[in-house]
Amino acid sequence: MEGIEKTLIRQMNDLADGSCLNLGLGELRFPTPRAILDHVRDHIGSWRLGYTPNEGFRELKELIAARHGWAVEPGRVCVTNGAQEALFAALMVLVDSGDDVLVPDPGYPAYASIVKMAGGVPRSYALNGASGFALDIGAVEAALSPSTAAVIINCPHNPTGAVYDRESVRVLAALCDSRGIPIISDEVYAAIYYDRAPTSPAFFSPRCVVVDSLSKTYSMTGWRLGWCIVPEDMISPLAAFHQLSVTCASAVSQHAAMFALRGGADAEKDDNLRELARRRDLAIACLKRNGLAFVEPAGTFYIMVDVTTRRPRFGTSLDLAKAFLAREKVVTIPGSAFGARGEGYLRISFAAAPADIEEGVRRLARFLQN
Ligand code: PMP
Repeated sequence: MEGIEKTLIRQMNDLADGSCLNLGLGELRFPTPRAILDHVRDHIGSWRLGYTPNEGFRELKELIAARHGWAVEPGRVCVTNGAQEALFAALMVLVDSGDDVLVPDPGYPAYASIVKMAGGVPRSYALNGASGFALDIGAVEAALSPSTAAVIINCPHNPTGAVYDRESVRVLAALCDSRGIPIISDEVYAAIYYDRAPTSPAFFSPRCVVVDSLSKTYSMTGWRLGWCIVPEDMISPLAAFHQLSVTCASAVSQHAAMFALRGGADAEKDDNLRELARRRDLAIACLKRNGLAFVEPAGTFYIMVDVTTRRPRFGTSLDLAKAFLAREKVVTIPGSAFGARGEGYLRISFAAAPADIEEGVRRLARFLQN
């Protein structure tokens, strides 16, 4: 574990106290849908809450397979403790000591750390702010090598909110297939988009590994319920890793997940997603009104605000985020937390309450002007 630390996202949040506005956290502020809580409360006494099958309840795996909309056998699904464990399990299976894994820059910082923990070497492929952080196939191709064990993509993308167009995803899948390299597709934000729906590379590539969870879509981060869908020849080592590390996902959360995936909480989930779309519009309007530059998000609940133009000599985005927190009591995440290509941006989250979004953006504009 030497050199592997908690992410800067956590560190920024740890610096905050109760008096701060928080535009930093990566979770919805909505409570878990009422219908799910009611279902658990009404039925928990009748469930056998022992160990479940290691890879999860059969019915849950069937619901997950059906949800993904292409030919998935439930036997290729492993239910995990959130997407985080799914990423870990997939990388532990795919990475041999010294292998490269391609990770996006900017990107979710855990990717590079988990690759290192699995004995591999993270190699970044650049996403460019000037082109809206769109997927750059040339950058991926240039980073591939004979020792590349996997390519991680994340769409909709944290921290940029980018949603890749279908054709780019198809071309990437064809490229990776032609080299025999699996894509690990992190789809935790798949339900959170504002214009075109994201396309999974699994539609094009039989070797694709899909990682997903209930965390973001259903405001269930603390339930720790996710899954990994893998090619048939990967399920056995993946299930062994999963069994030996965590045994199974929580039985209570698996019951809640079956209820959610049968549609039991869809009305509230859809209301929450509509509210999120309103908050996105509000955040964009506030940023524009205050004259701040940003990359318009097509998905997720994050916006990358460009702080280079307004504050060219401030130093790093980390210094800027810390000074902004100290002076204006607003938590944001420095773009550098997501890689070198995130430098010059702050990530703000519009999952916060509308009043906090308005006030936080107002304080950011004031801070950048002084
Ligand atoms: N992938 C991305 C891109 C994320 O942002 C997160 C959570 N912040 C995760 C995976 C992990 O999600 P989970 O709660 O399902 O473990």
